[in-house]
Order: sequence, then structure tokens, then C-alpha cells
Amino acid sequence: MMEVLKQRILSEGRAVGKEVLLVDSFINHQVDPQLMAQIGDEFARIFRGVEATRVATIETSGIAPAMMTALALKVPLVIMKKSVSAILSEELLQTPVHSFTKGSNYLLTVKRRFIQPQDRVLFIDDFLANGEAALGAAKLIAMAGAQVAGMGCVIEKAFQPGRARLQGEGYNPVALASIAWMEDGTIQFTEE
Ligand code: 5GP
Repeated sequence: MMEVLKQRILSEGRAVGKEVLLVDSFINHQVDPQLMAQIGDEFARIFRGVEATRVATIETSGIAPAMMTALALKVPLVIMKKSVSAILSEELLQTPVHSFTKGSNYLLTVKRRFIQPQDRVLFIDDFLANGEAALGAAKLIAMAGAQVAGMGCVIEKAFQPGRARLQGEGYNPVALASIAWMEDGTIQFTEE
């Protein structure tokens, strides 16, 4: 796990009930660019060997860590969009995703030409909860005929089923911080 990130979660993260972690003062509303650069370097170090040709993420909160990872790996970043309506077009790939935080569905959308069949795509997101976002991204990557080179999340909530679901599909997600459980006011990380 990434020690500076853990310390930051302990000092500024806020557990809302047992399920939702607020990190909006440094990750997804106000953003700490220096921490994001360290996160990008750490993902780049972990995934150096997978020879990714693209990093992909989902708008909005995945963009900051994914951008810094793509910068460190010197490959393009592809931002998958959340669309509310189906758009029939040869140019677009779409798949439905259930949003953990909003409790609603969206159509994850990407232009076909930004993921080519020969691509090896590293998926980076801010949170891993139920794995819906990552599974949707993997589906689009497969629809493009490309390979998932790896999956990384900044914060994993290990008490939710995301990891098991991704492993069931053959993926092995890497988390920079992993939370075993939370309660109002308390955040417990998993043992290393
Ligand atoms: P999943 O698709 O794995 O169920 O959820 C991942 C997505 O939901 C992430 O992209 C993230 O934006 C959002 N999310 C899930 N859990 C949390 C949380 O505890 N806090 C915040 N801020 N976002 C979360």
C-alpha cells in the first residue's frame, strides 16, 4: 500500500456510514496535484512490465489519477464517457453500468477509434467498490477487440465485492490503499 496515501485518507478522509468514503478535499472535488503525481508514478512503477499502449478511465473522478499514470507511462489517456441515452453509431461502443454512488444506470461510451484491436489497455479508477465500473470498462475494451493490460484503483473498499467479481473474470486489480471496514469516524485498512 502507498503510505502517503494512507496517511492522507486517515487525516482527511471521512467515512459516511459504513459504505461511502469522502475524499473530496484531495482526490475528487478539490484535487492535490502533487499527490496525484505520486499516485501516477506508483501505478507506472507497478504496471511498467505490462506494456500498456493506452490508459483508460471513466469520467469524472478517474481522470486525475489516470492522467498522471498515462503521463508517467508516456501513453495516451482515453476517457470513457457516461451517457444517459443510447446512441446508435458505428463509431461508438456502449455498455450499461450501474453507478454505486448515484444508484442509477448510465451507458459507458467510447469512440471505437480510440481503442484499437492491437491495444493493451491499463484501466485506472479512483475507487473499487462493486466492480461495476471496471467490468463495464473491460467490456468496452473487449468490444474494441483489445486486451486489458491491468487494472488499478486508488482506493479499494475490500468489504465490497468488486475484487472478487473482477477476479472471477480473470482480472487481478491493484489497489494503492485498501479499506477493510469503516464506521462514522473510523477507517481501518486491510493488513498488508
Ligand atoms: P464500482 O463500479 O466499483 O461499484 O464503484 C466505482 C465507482 O463508484 C468509482 O468510479 C467511484 O467514482 C464511485 N465510488 C464507489 N465507492 C465510492 C466511495 O466510497 N466514495 C467515493 N467518493 N466514490 C465512490
